Amino acid sequence: MIHTDPQVRGADPRVAGGRLTVDLDALATNYRFLAEQSTPAEAGAVVKADAYGLGTGPVVEALVAEGCRKFFVALPEEGLAVRASAPEADIYVFNGLFSPEAASFYREGRLLPVLNSQSDLAIWEAHGWDDGDTPRPCALHVETGMNRLGLSADRANVLAQENALTGALTPRLILSHLACADTPTHPMNQQQLESFQALRALFPDAESSLANSAGIFLGGEFLCDVTRPGVALYGSNPLSDGLNPMRTVVRVHARIAQLRHVPAGGTVSYGATPLNRDTLVAVTATGYADGYHRSGSGAGVPLRNVLQEGACGFIEGQRVPVLGRITMDLTLFDVTDLGPDALQIGDFIELVGPNIPVDDLASASGTISYELLTALGHRFERHYIHSGDGA
Ligand SMILES: *Cc1c(COP(=O)(O)O)cnc(C)c1O
Repeated sequence: MIHTDPQVRGADPRVAGGRLTVDLDALATNYRFLAEQSTPAEAGAVVKADAYGLGTGPVVEALVAEGCRKFFVALPEEGLAVRASAPEADIYVFNGLFSPEAASFYREGRLLPVLNSQSDLAIWEAHGWDDGDTPRPCALHVETGMNRLGLSADRANVLAQENALTGALTPRLILSHLACADTPTHPMNQQQLESFQALRALFPDAESSLANSAGIFLGGEFLCDVTRPGVALYGSNPLSDGLNPMRTVVRVHARIAQLRHVPAGGTVSYGATPLNRDTLVAVTATGYADGYHRSGSGAGVPLRNVLQEGACGFIEGQRVPVLGRITMDLTLFDVTDLGPDALQIGDFIELVGPNIPVDDLASASGTISYELLTALGHRFERHYIHSGDGA
């Protein structure tokens, strides 16, 4: 179902199971704040994965209006989507080239690849586009500790020597990525900064970039020339401890499909969770297929916090806990304390928003805001609003 109203996208509001609202003014306020915190560096914006699930077009347009001139995505097709809304911007693609065929996407969108490996370097030298007299503009990712993407220190040294002779590539940006930016006292941060400073010095004509959202708050030398905030733009707290300085950008609401009384001793959902009191249950049309997670992580990785409580929604001024297991399309909430007549079928329960911070829902679900945001509400109606907040 397609809508003609440009402010509403996604599912038809008359029948959608839920609603995802993106406050573009709050996004703009967050960009301005991060740009200020980044000074004297320039703040770019990371809009990979459809702007963390919120919609590339509206997000990029709002950021361009705030003066953002550098965008970062993961994949070439995401870069083309950004280009449609940012005709003049520099658009960097983190994941590199994969194959020679990828180069045509870069040419079409005037996208700048982030070269991560020997293979990327060779493909870009052979198939890259030229910007006027500037051959093969690109970014270089140098490895400093993540061991995910990036050129080794040895490879970067060889490249610097070779390229000084041949001029085959024009590195515009040298970047690396912090593994522990959200833990300011972690020794990795300083180690990575020092490794990065040594490598970026090999390419004196390029700008440098190290800090993601949390990295911006490490300040000082971590800022380099360009910062790369992502998740904080969308309202998640970039500070490991302390009040969230970001505005709420995302609101998610689930529609109540049914209200039912279950007497004490009855059970709910898969696995038959028993109820120990007479309970008024709100059955909402949202589930893990809408990104309301049922999650787990890899063995040996210390992510499995023991969860004391599950997630909560919010309605009529009160928090209402999830009851029993979240299922694919439906989630049950305990709304007993609101009284028997407070709610009706068709009312909406807030799942994320001013009363349920995205980070709180993430930790209640055993995950992080990034995973929540990128999964949320793909079956929902979507609204893009200007709240007037800070505008
Ligand atoms: C995703 C990503 C970012 C943005 O990180 P946030 O923590 O969301 O601010 C920055 N740099 C790289 C290389 C990334 O992959």
